[in-house]
Amino acid sequence: MEKFSNQQNLSRRNLLQFGVGLIGTGSLTAWSGTGALAQTVEHRAFRSQQDLLVAADPGSHHTQSTLTPDQSLAQLMAGNQRFVAKRRLNPHQDIARITEVATGQSPFAAILSCADSRVVPEIAFDQGIGDLFVVRVAGNIAITEDIASEEYAVGVLKAPLLMVLGHERCGAVAAAVEGGELPGVIESLVFAIRPAVQASQEETGDRLTNAVKANVRLQVQRLQTSSVIASAVQEGKLKVVGAYYDLDTGEISLVN
Ligand SMILES: [Zn+2]
Repeated sequence: MEKFSNQQNLSRRNLLQFGVGLIGTGSLTAWSGTGALAQTVEHRAFRSQQDLLVAADPGSHHTQSTLTPDQSLAQLMAGNQRFVAKRRLNPHQDIARITEVATGQSPFAAILSCADSRVVPEIAFDQGIGDLFVVRVAGNIAITEDIASEEYAVGVLKAPLLMVLGHERCGAVAAAVEGGELPGVIESLVFAIRPAVQASQEETGDRLTNAVKANVRLQVQRLQTSSVIASAVQEGKLKVVGAYYDLDTGEISLVN
């Protein structure tokens, strides 16, 4: 088991290095129009990154969100306030909305959330179909495939906000805090979270809560190793923020 875990560590490390290298040298994983295959395309074959991103998604129709990053964040947080106050509007959840977005999407926010069954972004932010581009993975970790998914949301769909959403009593972060042997390939999650546990271990207060928040900050940083995401931020078209979901109240607060 230990040997197996070490091999998993090694392969995950290699994958992370490969992912950062791939992004750093200007190549991208292009999404085919049918979504079945992905292929690596050299950046220099295209006049610009924008050409590449459009070429990656032929045949679909996107009308990008007209919200600014700040407006997008305000809309999310207002939805969470409705949720907490039991005044949900449940917008965009009827058959008319299905028809409206059937041939194209323009989500106003992209979210990297934990897979935890109690943290459901569409409900917690009181949004509906086509509003949020949500990537969910245990521990809300920004490993290569998650970064690639959010690159699609930012580079192709032009979402003006990207949020990493961690939460209270996260099991994946708890596993990283507690250490010890884990079944299957769960170690690969812990490997991506461990630097946040180390970074927060001197902080006062609840150890797990501190680690969850440090992990949110770490994954916000990792997302910005993407040239697609970093350049959108630089151009003022995107904000990347971290947030924390309180399991007891449903309230979401920003993590700075
Ligand atoms: Zn979690």
